Amino acid sequence: MSAAIEIRDLSFYYNGYPVLLDVNLNVEEKDFLAIIGPNGSGKTTLLKIVLGILRPRKGTVKIFGREPAQSAGLTGYVPQDTGTNKGFPISVADVTLMGRLGRSGRKARYTEEDHAAARRVLEKVGMWDYRDRPIGKLSGGQRQRVYIARALAAEPRILVMDEPTASVDTQFQTDLYDFLKELNETKTIVVVSHDMSVLSAYIKSVACLNQRLYHHDSSELTQDMLDAAYHCPVDLIAHGVPHRVLRKHDHEK
Ligand code: ADP
Repeated sequence: MSAAIEIRDLSFYYNGYPVLLDVNLNVEEKDFLAIIGPNGSGKTTLLKIVLGILRPRKGTVKIFGREPAQSAGLTGYVPQDTGTNKGFPISVADVTLMGRLGRSGRKARYTEEDHAAARRVLEKVGMWDYRDRPIGKLSGGQRQRVYIARALAAEPRILVMDEPTASVDTQFQTDLYDFLKELNETKTIVVVSHDMSVLSAYIKSVACLNQRLYHHDSSELTQDMLDAAYHCPVDLIAHGVPHRVLRKHDHEK
């Protein structure tokens, strides 16, 4: 059976400047992978390639054996909540329904099944009661739930999340991971973050990215992976969870 995501010898350049070099990665179905790395290390670029928004310059990417551009509906994307669209007057229900477009493309009107699916996922993320609320009038954590609902509305097999806990409080982070753990029983999850604190007991494997990818098939980070990705020593504390405080090192980042 095909892996959920298979990346072979992938390189990517912006204007001749290398962003990803010789990246290899196998993500099995129902894995829960965290990709961590400093700002500018290529995490978003890698996600865009997996989602079929950017094409690799070299190498191949397969989603359940298919080209990313042919796998719309297999991957659901939860973007970073940058708050940029806060003023846009669109309701929670309409944002969620937009997720159905990823499944079947543009259409004249939503079907009953689309509305039923939107309700199902809004109930699942606990946001059905907010369905008529403009998206801009929600807290960061609530908006993040709606983005997850929109991604789930397409019934994807892989959920890809960019900095899911960037703008949410600690309680929401715990709730989110509990929720993701439940989803992980049926779906493959890939979470990208520059914040190492999102690592938790829920994650099954972890990779460090900085142009090159350092990957282990376990949730334990090794000191070698961190040193290679961060180019400066980051301390590991107990259970393979990296500490934010850098050890003394020679250069300033
Ligand atoms: P991350 O998500 O890890 O912060 P990105 O994938 O966004 O990293 O960016 C990786 C590198 O590519 C950075 O140096 C960034 O400045 C550069 N980059 C990102 N997008 C573009 C673009 N559209 N054109 C040129 N350079 C880009």
